[in-house]
Amino acid sequence: MVGARLLEEVRRRDPRGESVELTVVGAEARPAYNRVLLSTVLAGGLPSAVDLLPDGWAQEWGVDARLGAAATAIGDGILHTTTGDLPFDVLVLATGSRAWLPPMPGAEQGIPFRDLDDCARIVERARPGVRFAVLGGGLLGCEAARGLAGRDVKVTLVHPKPHLLERQLDPSGGAVLGAALERLGVDVRLGVRATSWDRGLHLADGSVIAADELVIATGVRPETALAEAAGIAVDHGIVVDDRLATSDPRVFAIGDCAQHPGTGTGLVQPGWEQAAVLADLLTGTDQAARYTGTRPVTRLKARGVDLATVGAPAALDGADVLRFADPAGGRYAALAMDGDRVVGGAMIGMPEAAATMVQYFDTGAPAPSDRLGLLLGRTPAMTSDPGRLPASAVVCRCNTVTKSALVTAWRAGATDPAALGRATRAGTGCGSCTDTVCGLADWLAAADPGPITEGAA
Ligand SMILES: Cc1cc2nc3c(=O)[nH]c(=O)nc-3n(C[C@H](O)[C@H](O)[C@H](O)COP(=O)(O)OP(=O)(O)OC[C@H]3O[C@@H](n4cnc5c(N)ncnc54)[C@H](O)[C@@H]3O)c2cc1C
Repeated sequence: MVGARLLEEVRRRDPRGESVELTVVGAEARPAYNRVLLSTVLAGGLPSAVDLLPDGWAQEWGVDARLGAAATAIGDGILHTTTGDLPFDVLVLATGSRAWLPPMPGAEQGIPFRDLDDCARIVERARPGVRFAVLGGGLLGCEAARGLAGRDVKVTLVHPKPHLLERQLDPSGGAVLGAALERLGVDVRLGVRATSWDRGLHLADGSVIAADELVIATGVRPETALAEAAGIAVDHGIVVDDRLATSDPRVFAIGDCAQHPGTGTGLVQPGWEQAAVLADLLTGTDQAARYTGTRPVTRLKARGVDLATVGAPAALDGADVLRFADPAGGRYAALAMDGDRVVGGAMIGMPEAAATMVQYFDTGAPAPSDRLGLLLGRTPAMTSDPGRLPASAVVCRCNTVTKSALVTAWRAGATDPAALGRATRAGTGCGSCTDTVCGLADWLAAADPGPITEGAA
């Protein structure tokens, strides 16, 4: 995803290839697709993966595209690949992550959930009546389990920790999520380790989950092998600085494979922001461009469970945290404050409050003094009234599209949500901002608001 974005960002700045010649080497045989939406494909919400690049991109952008070819080693100014050697002046590693399989007998028979082939295998086997075990109760495991339950298969979600999504939620939030998934038909087993897969999933407490298929979602690891073998500095990811440079001055790294102090890995938005910075640097558009980090926002893509979190999970351990839990109603809200700023939070089953939380977190705007109203979503959500949204508010997190960019595109002729999506990419990531984009389009159609300012538009 991030390598594809880099090609696009470079060609935006250098449309005729006058300063940068591009070659892309990709192990997957098909052009880049939206990996984030694979959960939606698994759940049956999309027939297949969504391409990230326009038709004819390689020819139009003059890119030497070597798909279905793997890079095998980095030499001195040469990239060795399965289809031959490629000399380079600059090498950008955007090798992503790979699924991590737990060291248990039979794990290799499970299906990881990382790429389109994995997704196709899971969908193909998800016939009514088939019993699935899903191992791992992080975002991916919860999305896979929910998606499978929607396909009328029997699903048991097994997680070794005492509650789901322990990296994003505290125990009461995790309990609300677990109960919501149970109501949607997922059998949730917590606090127990899987020991082997052998005609069922064997657990450390001696019980066996009767299942025909195993989906493994036990985490990912940055794909660092090429860099490591070339002697480039690697910690858990390939270590990069604010210019995305590795310890080898000719080699850069972006996306899941890169480790920058300002961000964790495993989410696409940091990679997309990194691609834009690197394109500025490589094309000479802005030699002062620097990547300083991304503030994490995560959303669970599970139909029937509205869950969003912002900030580092540790924020919820701080002193100034507001909480509300309604397990029976499937609702939960937690907000970590630093003075009047939202610095972390998690919301389940409270979409309005979640939208408000994300907006205050993103914009860093001072939150209203009515904290109870803020926590429960009674403060008018900035996104529910497009006119009140600040111009700099990020509407589409996946693509960093602001309200101001959408208004500019609308004035340039993109006067419906689909056209706004094509012009700005808003709504083409995880799709969770679609309602907001539609609301903005309606608002713009009702009355061209004139020049927008940083306050109310
Ligand atoms: C089901 C699913 C749902 C997700 N949902 C979300 C979400 O809601 N929000 C979010 O932010 N993120 C989500 N993610 C994570 C997101 O997809 C990643 O953060 C994103 O794909 C990272 O992009 P990337 O380009 O760094 O890596 P990738 O998209 O993994 O691309 C790396 C590519 O490099 C190729 N490659 C690796 N090694 C070599 C080699 N030696 N030679 C040639 N090619 C090589 C790989 O085959 C792969 O095609 C999800 C991931 C999955 C699997």
